[in-house]
Amino acid sequence: MQPILTFNVSPTLPSRLEPLRRLSYNLHWDWSVETKDLFRRLDPDLWDSSRHNPVLMLGTISQERLREVAGDEGFLAQMDRVARELDDYLAERIVDEVHRAPNWFHKQRIMVGAGHLKDCFAYFSAEFGLTDSLPIYSGGLGVLAGDHLKSASDLGLPLVGVGLLYQKGYFSQYLNADGWQQERYPTNDFYNMTLHLERNPDGSELRIAVDFPGRAIYARVWRVQVGAIPLYLLDTNIEPNSSYDQDITDELYGGDIDIRIHQEIMLGIGGVKMLRALGHKVTAFHMNEGHSAFLALERMRQMIQEDHLTFAEAKQVAQSSQIFTTHTPVPAGIDLFPPDKVMYYLGSYAEVFGLSREEFLALGRENTGDLTAPFSMAILAIKTASFVNGVSQLHGEVSRHMFQGLWPELPLNEVPVTSITNGVHARSCVAKSTQDLYDRYLGPSWSDAPADNPIWDRVKSIPDEEWWRNHERCRSELTVFVRERLRKSLRERGASPTEAAKAQDVLDPSVLTIGFARRFATYKRATLFLRDLDRIKRILLDLHRDRLKGSHLDPRKHAVQFVIAGKAHPKDIPGKELIRDIVHFIRDEGMQHNIVFIPDYDIYVSRLMVAGCDVWLNTPRRPREASGTSGMKAAMNGLPNLSVLDGWWDEADYVRTGWPIGHGEDYDDPNYQDDVEANALYDLLEKEIVPLFYDRDNEGLPRGWIAKMKEAVRLNCPLFNTARMVREYATRSYFPASDRYYQMTADTYTPAKALAQWKARLFEHWYDIKIQNIDISTGSMAAGSIPADVQVNQDIAVKTWINLGALSAADVQVELYQGPVNTNGEIVDGMPVSMEFQGVDDQNSSIYTVDITYTNSGLQGLSLRVLPKHSGLSSPHEVGLVLWAHP
Ligand SMILES: *Cc1c(COP(=O)(O)O)cnc(C)c1O
Repeated sequence: MQPILTFNVSPTLPSRLEPLRRLSYNLHWDWSVETKDLFRRLDPDLWDSSRHNPVLMLGTISQERLREVAGDEGFLAQMDRVARELDDYLAERIVDEVHRAPNWFHKQRIMVGAGHLKDCFAYFSAEFGLTDSLPIYSGGLGVLAGDHLKSASDLGLPLVGVGLLYQKGYFSQYLNADGWQQERYPTNDFYNMTLHLERNPDGSELRIAVDFPGRAIYARVWRVQVGAIPLYLLDTNIEPNSSYDQDITDELYGGDIDIRIHQEIMLGIGGVKMLRALGHKVTAFHMNEGHSAFLALERMRQMIQEDHLTFAEAKQVAQSSQIFTTHTPVPAGIDLFPPDKVMYYLGSYAEVFGLSREEFLALGRENTGDLTAPFSMAILAIKTASFVNGVSQLHGEVSRHMFQGLWPELPLNEVPVTSITNGVHARSCVAKSTQDLYDRYLGPSWSDAPADNPIWDRVKSIPDEEWWRNHERCRSELTVFVRERLRKSLRERGASPTEAAKAQDVLDPSVLTIGFARRFATYKRATLFLRDLDRIKRILLDLHRDRLKGSHLDPRKHAVQFVIAGKAHPKDIPGKELIRDIVHFIRDEGMQHNIVFIPDYDIYVSRLMVAGCDVWLNTPRRPREASGTSGMKAAMNGLPNLSVLDGWWDEADYVRTGWPIGHGEDYDDPNYQDDVEANALYDLLEKEIVPLFYDRDNEGLPRGWIAKMKEAVRLNCPLFNTARMVREYATRSYFPASDRYYQMTADTYTPAKALAQWKARLFEHWYDIKIQNIDISTGSMAAGSIPADVQVNQDIAVKTWINLGALSAADVQVELYQGPVNTNGEIVDGMPVSMEFQGVDDQNSSIYTVDITYTNSGLQGLSLRVLPKHSGLSSPHEVGLVLWAHP
C-alpha cells in the first residue's frame, strides 16, 4: 500500500537531554572517545545492536531509560562536558578575520593575506568511510576520504565533501558452511542515520536536476556533519525519477557500465550543480580518484554558457583550480568508458564546447590519434588538473611510468605527477585506552603534532609495565570480541548451541597474534602464509624439531595465532577462493584455536584488530599496493609491521619499526616470487619475531618487543597520519590552486583569457623555434673548442644562440640539462639549470649563457632545452611543450 503522505518522526527527548540530539548529529562523536563513551553508557546493548548509531539509538531507546539518565547526575555532567567540548571545537573552526584562538588554517592563510576568507575547497569521492554506522565505503579509498574530512575539520580548512548516498551501501559479508562468501545488502534507513536533509528556505527538499538523454534525473541532498566540515551526498531514490533512475545511487560500485556512467555523471556533474545550489563558491576542486572527473565538464559548461568564455578559456580556469589524486598502480584499475557511450550521454557537452567528436573524446585519451581508444576517467582528470599526485613515494614513481605517455618529451623524473603519502586519522584509529596513555605522557596535541615536535621523544618515557598492560588489555578485548562474533555467526548459520559454544575456545589472549585484514583482492596474497603447510603448522603450534625431542613438551609455549578478516568483491571469484582456502585450512588441519576468520570486516572490526594484534602482516605483490593504510593504523597503536616493501612501508623506517619481507625486489615469475617471499616470512617469524616476543624478563615483560612497539609509534605516528597529509595537500595543492583561481577569474576572467590566447599563440609558433648554435668551453680554453675532459670543480661556460621566431624571450625559459650518462648513452636523473638571457644579436638570435661547475666525476652529459614561460602557468609542463637540442 502506498502512503498518501510521509513524514519523519523524530524521537522525543526530555529537555534536559536535548544536547544528545546535537551530539548524535555531528560525526565528531566518532573521534571524541568521551562522547562515544557517553552513548555506550546510555545503553550498552542498544549501542552495539544499533551498530554504534546514536541517531537510531535515540529513536529506539525506551522512555523509561531516558527518564532514568535524565536524573543521573554523573551522566548529565559527562553529557554537558562533551557538549561544551563540541561547541568549543566548532567555535575554534569558524573562518573569520579576527579569530580568538587561530587554528592551523588561520595561521597559514588568513593571517598572512587578505582575500583568503573566500577559500572553499571541494573534495569529491565516490566513497567515504567515516564510521561503521554509515556503510557507504568499500575499503581503503573510502576510509582515506573519511579521514581526510576529519583532519580537514581538525585543521580548520574551509572544505566541503561531495559524494553519493547509496541506498544499499556496501554489502555485509557472511560465510556459508563451506567458507564461501555470501553477500547481504541491508537497506540504509537514511532517516535513522547521522544525516540532515538539505531544504530550501520554504522547507521543501532541496533538489538538483541533471540532464540525461531524453530526461532529467533529480537528486536530493543529504548532509553528514563531520565536525566543522559538511559532507553532501546525492540521492536519486526519489519521485519523479523512473525506477531505473532511482537505482543510480543504489549500490556502491554496483551495476553494469551504464549504471557506472550514470553514477559518475551524477557525482561529477550533479556534484558541481549541487554545490552551486547550496551557495558554495568553490575555489579549488579535488578529485579523489577519477570517478568524479566529469566535474570538469560541468564547470566548463557553466563558464562557456553563462560567462561567455571560449572552450580554451574555460579549460584554463578549470585546470588552474583542479587537483587529481590517483590511487591505482595498474591500468586495469582505471575507469574506462566506450567512446559511443560517452558521446551518447555527454555529447551535448561537446556541442556546447564547440568540439568535434574526436576533439571531445581526446580529453579522455592518452593517444589522441587513436580513435578506437576508450575514454579514460584518469586521463580526463589529469588533463583538467594542475596538480596530480600518487599516494606514496613509490606509487608516485609507478604513476609517472603509467602516465608518461602524456608527456612524451619529458624525462621520467620530470613527469609532473608527484606524490603525497597517505595517512590515517589518529583519534579515529587508536584505541581509547592507548589514546589516554598518549594524552597523559605526550600531551593531548600528539594526534596532529608534526615529526619535528619533541613530544615524540616522550614515547620512550612511558613505563614499560604500563605500556604492556595496556596492550595486553587491547589483545584481550579483541579476543572477547572475536569469540562473541564467531558465536553469533555460527548461530546464524544454524549451528547447535553446543557447537556455537566452541567459539569460546578460539584464540589465547596471551599468544603472539598476527593480524591480516584487507580486501581479498588476489594481488594482496592473503594465503601467502599458507604456502608451506608443514612449516606454518610448526610455527603456529611451536612444534620445532629440537623441542619435540624434549620430554615435557608444551606445544603452546611459543605459539602463534592469526586473526584474519576481509571482503572479496562480489564478482571476484578468485578472491572468494582465497577466503575459502583459509577456512578449509582451519577446518582440515584442526586449527580453530590458532586461526580465525572474522566475518564482515568493517571500520569497527579494523579498529579492534589494529589495536589488539601484535604484528600487522601485509604481503602484496609489489608494487600493486599504492599505499595501504591499515598498517599505519596498526603502527599508531604500537604494532610493528611485517610487510613486503610496498606502498607506504617502502618509505617507513622498516628496520626499527618492524620487519621487511624481502628488499623491494621485482620478480618476473610470480610463482618463484611467492616461494621466496613465503620463505622470508617464515624465516622472520621463526628467527626474529617469535623469539623477541617471548623473550620476557623476570617481571614478565618483553623489553625488546616493547622498545620496538614504542619506535613504531614514535617514528610512524607523526608521519603517516592525515594531519600531516592534509597539511601537505593544503600547502602544496589547495592554496596554490585557489590562488590561481582568484588570479584567473579576476576582472571577469581577463587573465584567463590572456593566458588562453598566449597558449594559442605559443602553439602556433612553437615549432618555428630553432636552437642554432651551442658553445661549450672551459675557462682556460678558447671559445668554440669542445672540452673532452673536465676535472671536478672546473668551470664550464655554455652559450647558445636561439631563433625564437615570432616568440620572444618573455615567452620561454631556456635550460641547460645535465647529469650522469648511463650505459645506453642517456642522461639519467638530469638536473635542469636555468640559462640567462643576454639579449638579441643582429642576426635576430636570442643569446643565453650559464656557467656550471662539475662536482661529480664520471661520464657526464649535457643537453639544452626550451620550455614555455608564463606567470599564470602552474608549471612549465602544464602546456606539454618542450624543445630539446638535437645532437
Ligand atoms: C583501513 C581500512 C582499509 C584499508 O586497509 P589497507 O591496508 O589499505 O588494505 C580497508 N578497510 C577498512 C574497513 C579499513 O578500516
